[in-house]
Amino acid sequence: MTLIELKGVEKIYQQGKIEVPALKGIDLTVETGEFTTIFGPSGSGKTTLLNMIGCLDKPTAGQITFDQRELGGISKKELALIRRYNIGFVFQSYNLIPVLTAFENVEFAVRLVNNRNDKERRQIVLNILAAVGLEGLENRRPNELSGGQKQRVAIARALVKEPKLILADEPTANLDSKTSIEILEIMVKMNQQLKTTFIFSTHDPQVMEYASRLIEIRDGEVSIDQKGEKAGVYS
Ligand code: ADP
Ligand code: MG
Repeated sequence: MTLIELKGVEKIYQQGKIEVPALKGIDLTVETGEFTTIFGPSGSGKTTLLNMIGCLDKPTAGQITFDQRELGGISKKELALIRRYNIGFVFQSYNLIPVLTAFENVEFAVRLVNNRNDKERRQIVLNILAAVGLEGLENRRPNELSGGQKQRVAIARALVKEPKLILADEPTANLDSKTSIEILEIMVKMNQQLKTTFIFSTHDPQVMEYASRLIEIRDGEVSIDQKGEKAGVYS
């Protein structure tokens, strides 16, 4: 089933009097369950594209359909609700709440979307933390965790609300290569177990190898779009 469809999506940023065209007519369909990477050099439009798909920003022209819903005419408030219930975000710099423990960071996310009782919620949070390999570290705050562990918390936080889609913008950019592989392996596992659709951006060839679909954008346009069992064309 189609989860996301972009038709002729353009984004022009206004920088003072200068117009910066960041996306120049993107046509793209993403099916439920895909594990897709968007790659390309810095400045090619990866973050802009993820922000459009993630309902964080609206295109200057073109259409985006998310889960059968055309996003063009809807209000900011409705966009925020679509985000809250359907999309999990993972960022390069983790974006955890520093005063909260790993457990509390994840619990905070699940509180926003369901009204389970305390005991059930606790179990859900513990289960997802264990699934990303953080058993025993639940009570640590972000500054007591390594980069890789922080990113595991961020993935758990994104997954705990059982979103249809996880968007990860250069999730391994601050990690060493061994840790990057571990993070990708967790994402692959979650994609396979929970059928969550993943789209992540990277410019690391080692990381893109894990994707089953490679989309390259250059200068705001799709230049390669290739599907495979495990693409690995750059290995
Ligand atoms: P990437 O994530 O691939 O590095 P971006 O999507 O961040 O690329 O940026 C694409 C282009 O849009 C770049 O030329 C960048 O300078 C420009 N850009 C991004 N965000 C803004 C903004 N808020 N205002 C103006 N220009 C921007
Ligand atoms: Mg970027």
